[in-house]
Amino acid sequence: MSSTLTKAEKPSIKIEHTQCFIDGKWEAAASGKTFATYNPATEEVIAEVAEGDAADIDRAAKAARRAFDSGPWSKMDARDRGRLLYRLADAIEDRADELAALETLDNGKPISESRQGDLPLVIDCLRYYAGFADKIQGSTIPIRGNFLCYTRREPVGVAGQIIPWNFPMLMTAWKWGPALAAGCTIVMKPAEQTPLTCLRMAAIAQEVGFPDGVINVVPGFGPTAGAATVKHPLIDKIAFTGEHITARIITRDSAESLKRLTFELGGKSPNVVMADADLDAAAQGAYIGLYLNQGQCCCAGSRLFVESSIREPFMEKLSALAAARKVGDPFDSQTEQGPQIDQNQFDKVMKYIDQGQSEGANLLVGGKRVGECGYFIEPTIFDNVSDQMSIAKDEIFGPVLSVLTFDDKEELIRRANDTFYGLAAAIWTRDLSTAHEFAARVRAGTVWINCYDAFDAAAPFGGFKLSGHGRELGEEGLRAYTENKTVTVKL
Ligand code: ADP
Repeated sequence: MSSTLTKAEKPSIKIEHTQCFIDGKWEAAASGKTFATYNPATEEVIAEVAEGDAADIDRAAKAARRAFDSGPWSKMDARDRGRLLYRLADAIEDRADELAALETLDNGKPISESRQGDLPLVIDCLRYYAGFADKIQGSTIPIRGNFLCYTRREPVGVAGQIIPWNFPMLMTAWKWGPALAAGCTIVMKPAEQTPLTCLRMAAIAQEVGFPDGVINVVPGFGPTAGAATVKHPLIDKIAFTGEHITARIITRDSAESLKRLTFELGGKSPNVVMADADLDAAAQGAYIGLYLNQGQCCCAGSRLFVESSIREPFMEKLSALAAARKVGDPFDSQTEQGPQIDQNQFDKVMKYIDQGQSEGANLLVGGKRVGECGYFIEPTIFDNVSDQMSIAKDEIFGPVLSVLTFDDKEELIRRANDTFYGLAAAIWTRDLSTAHEFAARVRAGTVWINCYDAFDAAAPFGGFKLSGHGRELGEEGLRAYTENKTVTVKL
């Protein structure tokens, strides 16, 4: 692989927002504590950020509650909520360069991805939900007797939103868009590794006119600020994206208040290449499906099933792509792969690379650290992987692809489904019946046919099994922020 660890021209990036954003004000954490956020490409501290905890979440929850129950938000027409969301999308679009640079600085993803991948999806998601704000409707129901019966779709209330570090702005948009369109107010806890763009988005939301208390952002750690959000009695719902182990803790912590929960969790998604596929397209899809975002995608196609008869020509194409991937300074416009997010993730990925070798898989491409500074790892491919190896079973969340082969369709379906996860799956084939049979039988929330990572704000996304419950995006994502109310009138 070509590595370009030379320093690229970095735009000067001003870090203006590092405090808690509560009730329209920027405030230090009540404890006065701060924590450092790091540039994963250089391991340098970017900024000290307020370390919110239970006291700050309490202030945020009270502000969000007030804004929901009695503030201007509660009286605002749905269409005007939509207009604010459109304005937020426009303002983000106007500052897309600045925001993309901040995202790359804090997260390490290549600037081309932040600017041309994440930012357009953020803007599109906010616009999609802006258009929904005045189209949330109930129904009239013909019940027995002389009654008028109708339903109202009402906002669920204060939404606690806890997001991870892999797509900080995009996860913010996926959470804010439907919540705000539905009329909820928000207490958000961004990931401790990447708080900066979410805070910046809060500042922009205030500028475009969101009333105080509607959006509150409290940076901090999971077991403190995150857990306090989950336990807070004034918060009605938790929308969480992260690991299933954390989702279990959240389920326990929210048991007392029986909060509404939606979870978008991990995966070990099967990506299948049939012998009749367009092999160039499939190799490109397998490459993007795994290496996008340094392999740090919950839906990464990390179990690649290749039909035995085409294994050799296919692996040649895929290995060439992986070996040519440009790893290096995320601010270099030519860079395709930046660093992993932090030391923990770096160590975890390297541990799996060791384990793959010791369990007997064949290290075909990569496997080593790139450079001495920053958390860079070579795009890595293991073949001769068997289903029981840890690299075939566990979510690695890094640039490590496990290649398995198969000969028979029944065997394939059984093995594809032999996982605790069920987030995504894909198949590459020219045979319609094979494609649709796979789509129907694979236990996953999203199935891509002859494509990978084809996301759209209108298409619901979420998991079966340990990959989550509920769906984000689309109308289903919006409904998750509403309650149904049935009204019956005696005529
Ligand atoms: P990741 O491995 O992606 O960091 P986590 O599930 O640990 O996945 O973290 C995702 C988000 O959940 C982060 O914002 C983190 O701070 C938060 N979090 C971690 N532990 C808890 C917890 N016990 N309660 C609530 N939120 C938590």
